[in-house]
Amino acid sequence: MISIPEEVLNLLQHSRFPVAFTGAGISVESGIPPFRGPGGIWNKYDPEILDISYFLKYPEESWKQIRKMFYEVIEKARPNPAHYALAEMENQGRLKGIITQNIDNLHQKAGNKKVVEYHGNTRDVVCLECGKKYPLLQISFEQLPPRCPQCGGLLKPDFVFFGEPIPADAALQAEEWMKNTDLLLVIGTSGVVVPASLLPYTAKQYGAKIVEVNLYPSEYTNRISDYFLQGKASEILPALI
Ligand code: NAD
Repeated sequence: MISIPEEVLNLLQHSRFPVAFTGAGISVESGIPPFRGPGGIWNKYDPEILDISYFLKYPEESWKQIRKMFYEVIEKARPNPAHYALAEMENQGRLKGIITQNIDNLHQKAGNKKVVEYHGNTRDVVCLECGKKYPLLQISFEQLPPRCPQCGGLLKPDFVFFGEPIPADAALQAEEWMKNTDLLLVIGTSGVVVPASLLPYTAKQYGAKIVEVNLYPSEYTNRISDYFLQGKASEILPALI
């Protein structure tokens, strides 16, 4: 039985604008490996694959690896109790929204409506020539790299590669929520991928309490977290509600 400190429950109950900030850790128990840590993607793949300059130079090889690394696992993944707990919180009016670094669509599948995808998503692909977006499922992968059905341009996953900017609308919305929140739940993120990792510092600066959920201490734990709930997100979040 997980026990949650009384002060954390009080904070949740009385928060005016609670927001969650999630990372790869929340989806680990859905079968999607994180970047870092045990079983992490970087133990198996070279991070260069997600570099935009590598993608532009070797789109065929890049697509091959990315399909294996992300698309094949994400396709099979289902939300876990941590995702469902956040969906229930939003339903009950006890969570204003989620800013996620994840690209796996699992918050939406669990039922959350207010989700800011800071790093884009794997649902769509985007043409680098004409800018048109297509649902991934409409695109043929018989020939790699896939090409735009309209103009023949190179198609790229609609998530943020290393070296690319954050989508402007997501960056704006995240910044606004961070300035407005009085309680930030930081869940399953190591806190090392900039600029996303800087968001909780903004919340703290504007007076929010930080409640962190992680299997292990992160970059935030001894710096800005007011409470560190150590353990699996899938066990701690259901206990919170
Ligand atoms: P990260 O890989 O750097 O760190 C994962 C964190 O989750 C670690 O701190 C780890 O201790 C924690 N963790 C692992 N299992 C957990 C569990 N069961 N419960 C709670 N915490 C757990 O991930 P990050 O900080 O999100 O940053 C890396 C980048 O990885 C993000 O930008 C994201 O786009 C990308 N990514 C996304 C997915 C996905 O969409 N599911 C998967 C891998 C990587």
